[in-house]
Amino acid sequence: MDSEKKIIGRCPLCGGNVIKTCKGYRCEHNIGDNPSCALNINGIIGNRKMSDDEITEFLAEGRIMLDGFSTKEGKSFSTMLELADDGAVNMQSVIGKCPRCGGDIRVGARAFNCSNFSSQENQCNFSIWRNIGGHQLTLTEAREICEKEMTTDELEMFRDDGTVYRKRLGLSPDKLQIVKI
Ligand SMILES: [Zn+2]
Ligand SMILES: [Zn+2]
Repeated sequence: MDSEKKIIGRCPLCGGNVIKTCKGYRCEHNIGDNPSCALNINGIIGNRKMSDDEITEFLAEGRIMLDGFSTKEGKSFSTMLELADDGAVNMQSVIGKCPRCGGDIRVGARAFNCSNFSSQENQCNFSIWRNIGGHQLTLTEAREICEKEMTTDELEMFRDDGTVYRKRLGLSPDKLQIVKI
């Protein structure tokens, strides 16, 4: 009899181990007849297979931004997954507030976009490219630009000839674009 289990991370609800099962990922305290925890994450979310590493990050951070989800109609999309207090996994495409107009900033495949881009009375083109200078912006960095108008850390970016440089990304004074600072 083999009782070895693969531990993927720590349960944010109860602190127990989250283990890999045939259907996904489950808290060790959510097994048996009288489970004391509700955490049970499906291995396939939005028609997309989750990797063990993604679940590890998701458990540690409580959220993760991912590409490659698809609708029933086969249209692909990017979104953030958020873990609710009751252990439910919610799709949340809004990652922050637009620093220019206060609208919602949503994850797109290539950029974080203000949701007022098609608004009649409050039109706003604000967006942050997800790839800037060869650096793939993380969710945390995008949220920092929205909330604090600048990334906390300098980011590693690349010139045409391959040389590396480090700059923060932040808002231009007119808040119209993203600049290297
Ligand atoms: Zn648990
Ligand atoms: Zn806006």
